[in-house]
Amino acid sequence: MKITDIRPTTVTVPLEAPLRHANGCHWGRFVRTIIEVETDEGLIGLGEMGGGGESAEAAFRAMKKYLVGHDPTRLEELRFLIANPTASLYNNRTQILAALEFACLDILGQKWGVPISEILGGRLRDRVPFASYLFFRYPHPETGAGEVRTAEQLVAHAKELKERYGFTSHKLKGGVFPPEYELECYRALASALNGDRFRFDPNGVWSTETAIWFGLQIEDIRNDYLEDPVFGMAGMRRVREKVLMPLATNTVVVNFEQLAANVLDTAVDVILLDTTFWGGIRPCVKAAGVCDTFQLGVAVHSSGELGIQLATMLHLGAVIPNLSFAADAHYHHLADDIIAGGKFQYENGFIAVPKGPGLGVKLDYDKLSGYQELHKRLGPYPYDQDPLRPGWTPTIPNDRWADPRDGRRPTNVLL
Ligand SMILES: [Mg+2]
Repeated sequence: MKITDIRPTTVTVPLEAPLRHANGCHWGRFVRTIIEVETDEGLIGLGEMGGGGESAEAAFRAMKKYLVGHDPTRLEELRFLIANPTASLYNNRTQILAALEFACLDILGQKWGVPISEILGGRLRDRVPFASYLFFRYPHPETGAGEVRTAEQLVAHAKELKERYGFTSHKLKGGVFPPEYELECYRALASALNGDRFRFDPNGVWSTETAIWFGLQIEDIRNDYLEDPVFGMAGMRRVREKVLMPLATNTVVVNFEQLAANVLDTAVDVILLDTTFWGGIRPCVKAAGVCDTFQLGVAVHSSGELGIQLATMLHLGAVIPNLSFAADAHYHHLADDIIAGGKFQYENGFIAVPKGPGLGVKLDYDKLSGYQELHKRLGPYPYDQDPLRPGWTPTIPNDRWADPRDGRRPTNVLL
């Protein structure tokens, strides 16, 4: 079998409301690049990457001179072909490799008539648990709905998500407001949903001392872990000396070199595996094996996904024995998806692993072209900018917090 074509399509899919985070904001929509890899046997494999536009599409088209004629089932060779370690110093293609690996695995699964999870060792579970992934949110620019800024709004939002989707683990994305204010919100959440589990993630923007202080304030809560309280393994190591709960990261252990460093001098207890950041599903399975050997915890990270990437997360979650915690997904914040049959459904906090061959998802081409048009109309948005704080940039450690009394609605966010 040979690859005959690679087609990238940039899409923009609306979110329920703009999601605020420590380094900026998702401005009411996700921009993703959808990849179709076609073969001479008529099979089409699907991939997905964050971001998009002309440069991302050009980067994928440039891979055609490497991959047209290549056998898509030679996955290990694919890695060296487009992302060998020395060449990567000049052209980091990890995320491009990931999207192409998804597509090639999808092709292999279709060829063999089995889901990807069966290729990766066979599923240990038919459904993967997810956490609620709560964000502080701006109101929807048109309807004014969906704001999460106060503790009351946060608790109401979490209760609504629990009611609708069945979550029993709740992640709060912080690093937006002063740490004292976010502590109040986190404690209100834990108190309102007593009996559930919780995790907090300020995306590495605190000082080490703030991280230790915050960690000590939440030791009575049933924490899964404290995620990336500071940026850097030395800081994580210092926090870990002082607080009792596990520390997790999706930031400072995102490749095998860093994983080796963390094994030799442990700074982080739980490694959050991202199928994009690690360069594919298979590297995540390998990394989970290393974590298994050294008794580190593992969970599945979300870098903002549509249904194709969510399928990669589900197949990963299905096959790793040491999935110690519920996975994260931004997915429930999306208003729609580009896969056939509509969005994946949560049931009692779980999503079923697709049973069809390969990834088990197909494109809805009407939606693909509709959201391609939306991208053409709206263009990109800056992930590292806040629509209501022009010129603001957070330092690390940060002290330029947003004001929790500021209830403005962004009107410069096009939807
Ligand atoms: Mg994180």
